[in-house]
Amino acid sequence: MTDLYDIAIIGGGPAGLSAAVTASVRNKKVIVFDFSNFSPRLRKAHLVSNYLGLPDITGQELMEKFVAHALSFKPTLVTEKVIYASEGEGHFTLGTASGFFNAKTIIFAVGASSSETVSGEKEFLGRGVSYCATCDGHFFKGKKIAAIVNVPGALEEVDFLAELCEKVYLMPRFKIEGELKHENIEVIAEYPDEITGTDRVTGLRTPHGYYPVNGVFIFRESDPVDSLFPDILLKGKSVAVGEEMETSVEGIFAAGDCTGHPWQISRATGQGIVAALSAVKYLSQLKY
Ligand SMILES: Cc1cc2nc3c(=O)[nH]c(=O)nc-3n(C[C@H](O)[C@H](O)[C@H](O)COP(=O)(O)OP(=O)(O)OC[C@H]3O[C@@H](n4cnc5c(N)ncnc54)[C@H](O)[C@@H]3O)c2cc1C
Repeated sequence: MTDLYDIAIIGGGPAGLSAAVTASVRNKKVIVFDFSNFSPRLRKAHLVSNYLGLPDITGQELMEKFVAHALSFKPTLVTEKVIYASEGEGHFTLGTASGFFNAKTIIFAVGASSSETVSGEKEFLGRGVSYCATCDGHFFKGKKIAAIVNVPGALEEVDFLAELCEKVYLMPRFKIEGELKHENIEVIAEYPDEITGTDRVTGLRTPHGYYPVNGVFIFRESDPVDSLFPDILLKGKSVAVGEEMETSVEGIFAAGDCTGHPWQISRATGQGIVAALSAVKYLSQLKY
């Protein structure tokens, strides 16, 4: 088996990095996954005035301090999105575009799911709906696809898809600056109503149109919290947690905005500490 980590932390925002610091201080073998340069959300804050001891700091500056602090403990860092998760004999396996990683416990710190899901998204996930161009793009070689894009950084993924696919219908939720690199990308200034299909995706409906496609790629800051762990208990759109930040799945803890309101840095960092200590306690009770 490949390396077995004690604690895998999914998400490198304030919650995940706080958990990484505490888990590292407790001498655990830690792996952190973050795919978008550590909290694009906090980096948007022009001025943070309520973080104790660091008044009037920008979100960028605060995040850089968090990153430098957490990485000084040298956890293994994977700058890719976790797109696959499963539970095996005594450990969890997480997958990114480049490989699989095993860990005894997981701290889920993916931030709030900012977007509504599209009707049909969950139903067709893995059957035409994908969150990862690198992983699934080749299945759509020479075919028509749609790309629903909420984050400008994901336009690189769309370029990659345009090189593989016959046609890409691009539905951005922001203004596209400059020219697109590929002529087979058509920008649709509408947001989708419904992903349609039978056993697999066959199309995408918008308020004013219908686009026959074989695949729909969705790129946003964070996906629905239960897309990785469909069995995890939710409270509304957030992960349901107890006082120890434990989730309904044994061995998985959660922290930060993904556990609900208020969406605040101090709450996220505090929950990160509790989740890490709970994971450490859980590890000490394991029989191997
Ligand atoms: C404009 C703005 C201003 C704000 N101002 C304040 C303020 O003044 N004070 C305050 O207390 N709070 C403020 N907040 C809220 C604060 O930013 C959040 O509460 C905080 O960032 C939550 O931290 P988190 O770690 O839970 O999630 P996030 O910061 O959202 O981090 C989650 C991370 O997980 C990563 N991720 C998600 N899914 C995956 C995956 N599958 N694989 C790998 N990585 C993944 C994401 O890329 C992200 O980096 C503000 C928010 C915004 C948007």
